[in-house]
Amino acid sequence: VGTGLGQSYSDDNINTESRKKLGSRRTAKGKFVSPLLAHRESESKNEEKGSSTLVDDRLKNIDPKMVELITAEIMDKGPEVAWNDIAGLEFAKAAIQEAVVWPLLRPDIFTGLRKPPKGILLFGPPGTGKTLIGKCVASQSKSTFFSISASSLTSKWIGDGEKMVRALFVVARVHQPSVIFIDEVDSLLTQRSDTEHESSRRIKTEFLVQLDGATTDSEERLLVIGATNRPQELDEAARRRFVKRLYIPLPEHQARVDLLKQLMGSERHSLTDDQIEAIAQQSAGYSGADIKHLCSEAALEPIRSLDLSNIENIQASQVPSVSVTDFQKALSKVRASVCPNDLVQYLRWNETYGSGI
Ligand code: ADP
Repeated sequence: VGTGLGQSYSDDNINTESRKKLGSRRTAKGKFVSPLLAHRESESKNEEKGSSTLVDDRLKNIDPKMVELITAEIMDKGPEVAWNDIAGLEFAKAAIQEAVVWPLLRPDIFTGLRKPPKGILLFGPPGTGKTLIGKCVASQSKSTFFSISASSLTSKWIGDGEKMVRALFVVARVHQPSVIFIDEVDSLLTQRSDTEHESSRRIKTEFLVQLDGATTDSEERLLVIGATNRPQELDEAARRRFVKRLYIPLPEHQARVDLLKQLMGSERHSLTDDQIEAIAQQSAGYSGADIKHLCSEAALEPIRSLDLSNIENIQASQVPSVSVTDFQKALSKVRASVCPNDLVQYLRWNETYGSGI
């Protein structure tokens, strides 16, 4: 799930590799805001409040190359995600809207007892839409979205992981309102063990410090979303900091119907509503990602029925529309990726530590 870091940080490759990426990865839609410009913008905003030196000092202490890399690699400028793009998960969507999206939009109303949590945890099987929700929260609250996989902090950024965490939070503050999405958060915040590597211990401590900073400063519009497939691995200190903990389960029947319709909406197909209902029934236990995989597989079937020796001359209109038979074939190839036994664990953890459902 999610995005990891494309490359590791080192002085040697920063000027060549990442600069190249900086140019190539930026899309026409996602406008690039130089951290320096953003810094100046917030500086001028802050000058009115008389605290320009605060922002100044924060950025001064951070390696500019790291800031640049965070802006290029971790700041997500992908397409907007709407609530309707997420099938099912009505409870989670409603809870998130109320708890974090509205407060990010109207911090003046959500004060005192209504003050939002600064850290929320999304847990559940892989491929159920946790990353999608993170993107949606950022889009809907008009926030800058930062997405990082926690395992990349310990594996790819060896030695620099701790500095990266600090820099990430500083850049996120400069761009606030911001949403920091941390995938596989369990790999960062597992229960301490004696065998734990010193560097991962330091990353973890820094992360907890930053999370605490985010939770105590009420003026800040910073939300940290942790996602995990293994909530039972989180220690008490981590659990406590993610005040709201939402179970993101496998899609139910209606959500699978909606997802099938959504995914097939952009394809030529001959499926009737009844046939879609039947496919949804046959795909019980599939995750959202499995359903997507199923649709891709079914969509390839009509191509396979053509004489491909002549592929260059085939008209797009000659490709037959996707039929229920194509789905039957795809169903025999694409299986559910989540083991039913694992679901029991999520339900149990949800009963003990979850925030509802
Ligand atoms: P997770 O972060 O829970 O592992 P993702 O959000 O990365 O899962 O989901 C992977 C892909 O599966 C998404 O990009 C999306 O295409 C599809 N998907 C999964 N769940 C849903 C859902 N509830 N609604 C719409 N699409 C979904």
